[in-house]
Amino acid sequence: MHDEHSPQADWDLETLAIRAGHQRSHEQEHGEPIFPTSSFVYGSAAEAARKFGGEEPGNIYSRFTNPTVRTFEQRLAAMEGGERCVATSSGMSAILSTALALLEAGDEIVASRSLFGSTVSLFDKYLGKLGITTRYVELSNLDAWEAAITPATKLLFAETPSNPLSEIVDIAALAEIAHRHDALLAIDNCFLTPALQKPLALGADLVIHSATKYLDGQGRAIGGAVVGRDKELEELFGVVRTCGPCMSPFNAWIFTKGLETLNLRMRAHCDNALALARWLDQHPAVTRVHFSGLEHHPQHALAARQQQGFGAVLGFEVKGQREAAWSVIDATQMLSITGNLGDVKSTITHPGTTTHGRLSDDQKAIAGISENLIRVSVGLESMNDIRGDLARGLDALV
Ligand SMILES: *Cc1c(COP(=O)(O)O)cnc(C)c1O
Repeated sequence: MHDEHSPQADWDLETLAIRAGHQRSHEQEHGEPIFPTSSFVYGSAAEAARKFGGEEPGNIYSRFTNPTVRTFEQRLAAMEGGERCVATSSGMSAILSTALALLEAGDEIVASRSLFGSTVSLFDKYLGKLGITTRYVELSNLDAWEAAITPATKLLFAETPSNPLSEIVDIAALAEIAHRHDALLAIDNCFLTPALQKPLALGADLVIHSATKYLDGQGRAIGGAVVGRDKELEELFGVVRTCGPCMSPFNAWIFTKGLETLNLRMRAHCDNALALARWLDQHPAVTRVHFSGLEHHPQHALAARQQQGFGAVLGFEVKGQREAAWSVIDATQMLSITGNLGDVKSTITHPGTTTHGRLSDDQKAIAGISENLIRVSVGLESMNDIRGDLARGLDALV
């Protein structure tokens, strides 16, 4: 008789991605089923009372638990090496739920300056309303992180590598600083995923995901997740079950399918991105490429040590100003002109007027978002076709 659970502790990531988290129902299905149900029924009034009273485990209502969502949560928790995962309706609600679960009025966050734009708005506008304030520091500058911490600091929050300049922070060193000051470290692991980076093993307390990106990997659904220890995740579960930003079973099923091929896809994304970065680096119309996989990147050695791959989002600067950057973007015929990333389809955008368009000129200068900067999220089309699509506009600039 197969015991499906005991071997999991020893399984490798590739195996966990395919096999963790599915408890077969009495139908003995091989593929993971979808349970599109809002509520669950009981054999008796007494059983209902025990389940509602928490004396007996079991499903009650899909805002609390749903078997399809649980499969996704358990699989991602296993892949990130966390005790528990809570899935959410989006990456943003994963971040909001983390804050609601762990912070209160008067608490402070220290965050890296190069964050996803909506994360900055969430911190400043909406957490600000609740009396939670955020201070921003340069991602790679550990002294700046430490200097920004006060006795009220409860959470350190970073994305690494950053978007679109591929800056890196030393996660183990940042975790040590956080813990010395009784704060938690949360890493948004969207850009690398557990296939390429395991923040919990490096000492982080929480991993946050927008499942919308590489976990799905095909641009089909919006979702998010938080992974960590039971202690903090139980608080998070309370927020999601009460406040309601839960993941739908349909989306959980899509993300579970995504996880099965995550490792393969991420390796192929990395190969394409490195090849493109090297080609751009020697193109006469390109003045600078920002990608931690290139040997001249200032944190290449740290990236090589901390990550199992360099990811697939890169920035590059072209000769000229905004018109030059826009002309390269407009000359593409295959790449999708969109701010989204983490998709099998390659995407291209001008950060200065889209994803980072709301920053002031000073903020852009500090963040390194120049007018001639282009960001590409490198997909899985053939490298020949991706290069050919970019060469059209770049060659015209020379
Ligand atoms: C997209 C993204 C988010 C937000 O996720 P949604 O699923 O769009 O809500 C958060 N962090 C990073 C790094 C992202 O790229």
